[in-house]
Amino acid sequence: LALKKVKGHYLVACGEYDESMHQRLLDEQSFINGMNEALKNREFLFYLQPKYELAGGKIIGAEALVRWLHPQKGFIGPNRFIPIFEQNGFILNLDKYIWEEVCKLLRSWMDEGRQIQPISVNISRVDLYDNDLVGFFARLVKKYDVPPRLLELELTESAYIDNPEKIVEITQRLQEMGFIILMDDFGSGYSSLNMLKDVNVNVLKVDLKFLQNTNHNNRSGQILNSVVHMAKCLELPIIVEGVETLQQSEFLRSIGCNWVQGYYYSKPVPIETYEKLIEQMDGA
Ligand code: C2E
Ligand code: CA
Ligand code: CA
Ligand code: CA
Repeated sequence: LALKKVKGHYLVACGEYDESMHQRLLDEQSFINGMNEALKNREFLFYLQPKYELAGGKIIGAEALVRWLHPQKGFIGPNRFIPIFEQNGFILNLDKYIWEEVCKLLRSWMDEGRQIQPISVNISRVDLYDNDLVGFFARLVKKYDVPPRLLELELTESAYIDNPEKIVEITQRLQEMGFIILMDDFGSGYSSLNMLKDVNVNVLKVDLKFLQNTNHNNRSGQILNSVVHMAKCLELPIIVEGVETLQQSEFLRSIGCNWVQGYYYSKPVPIETYEKLIEQMDGA
């Protein structure tokens, strides 16, 4: 019998009983049982992760990232529940809720006369199957009287593979209404270049992590350099996320990347913390 220590738990490694897998199944069931109540009880909230202009160091906006403040389990990150909600379709309800909460926040900033930077929200590939998605966004910004350019939309590249025509159509219709479309996770899939040829996005969002998997740092660096150059040729601004070190930040500066996001600059933070960061910046 082999015992393996994983995250402080001893697991029987013979494969007959995997405690972590068992726990995952239990979680999955309890998430599904509790999701509707949780939405009603406002247990879902979002943090904001600032985005920075690399040259001047200023905050140019933020990304809204959902969390579940569970009454028993505590704080739960999206990687644990989003895949489950994508599978059972609940994700659309959750995302619509988050998008609306973000609009409310933008509205309150406008009412308070604050200097306002855009907030981007995530759109799941599953959300794209909703035929009323564009209509929903149109009504949402109208309801809160928020300029569409302040609610930026992050579409994951992986959605392109499911349904290329749909992405092309939705992107175009949303842009006509004034929304900014970011192509999230750029380069992580198998059809990044095809996607780029077909879909007229406004910003490319590249994740540093996908380059780090390779272990060939020079090669990764060259690839990123090429992506930045390609984006320049296409007159597409680029944001690199997952920046964790000064070294990475300096490399990105040297290759002329526009914007950055990552733990090196700031983790995702509660709304009030983000507001303080903006105030500090304005005062500086
Ligand atoms: P994503 O959209 O690619 O978001 C970036 C993720 O990387 C976030 O994880 C963020 O906290 C994390 N991150 C940021 N900077 C760094 C860094 O320097 N190093 C590392 N290692 N990680 C960094 P998070 O918040 O756990 O979200 C995970 C994923 O869950 C997101 O990936 C997105 O796909 C999904 N997600 C989050 N919020 C929502 C939402 O409201 N709706 C939908 N549909 N998906 C969401
Ligand atoms: Ca994102
Ligand atoms: Ca991403
Ligand atoms: Ca990421």
